[in-house]
Amino acid sequence: MRLVLLGAPGSGKGTQSQLLVQAYGIPQISTGDLLREAVAKGTALGLAAKAAMDAGRLVDDATVLGMIRERLAAADTARGFILDGFPRNIVQAEALARLLGEIGQPLDAVVLLDLDLKVLFKRLTGRRICQDCGRVFNVLTSPPGTPPHCERCGDMPRLIQRPDDREEVIGKRLEVYEAQTKPLIDHYRGAGLLRVVGADADTGTVFRAIQEAMAG
Ligand code: AMP
Repeated sequence: MRLVLLGAPGSGKGTQSQLLVQAYGIPQISTGDLLREAVAKGTALGLAAKAAMDAGRLVDDATVLGMIRERLAAADTARGFILDGFPRNIVQAEALARLLGEIGQPLDAVVLLDLDLKVLFKRLTGRRICQDCGRVFNVLTSPPGTPPHCERCGDMPRLIQRPDDREEVIGKRLEVYEAQTKPLIDHYRGAGLLRVVGADADTGTVFRAIQEAMAG
């Protein structure tokens, strides 16, 4: 299964990707995660990408496309993949179609996680991540408890906020989504690949809706 999860920042792409990984045994390919990894390691690519990421802008297409090309060449994608956060604009979508065309593995579906802007804002400002295991909490909607507890890491987990989840950056990220990523909805609808799933529900409900959308 070759799938794109499309949706604004905060729509739940990362969470749903992880459930899809467990259910279908195919890898999640998140350009955001790959970029954050490069930043953490201090590679040349990471250093070049950091300023755009911290400001909520897109990293340049050439960098992201190079990363995706390399990642899709890995053996674990042979049975499929979930693209999370890629493509982010029409140029990337067209490059992806060419790349997948070359290897004879076109996309099966593009699932849009559809969510109101106000809800997105709340999800992003409240998002906190367990520094040790990566589990995502939301201090507004799914807090880690009192005292704070992480199922994997125990009591008093070290929770961090992504630098680009700060309120002043979120506005920019949502603006970038509206201007550059949203046109992909019509692009993929026109290609007959789009499936729309309402994402304003609990994780399990959204996951079942994704499975139904893919089957239908
Ligand atoms: P995400 O974790 O998907 O929200 O991505 C975090 C940040 O990484 C974005 O705000 C961008 O700066 C950068 N990024 C992630 N994916 C892409 C992409 N496909 N194209 C350009 N920049 C990206």
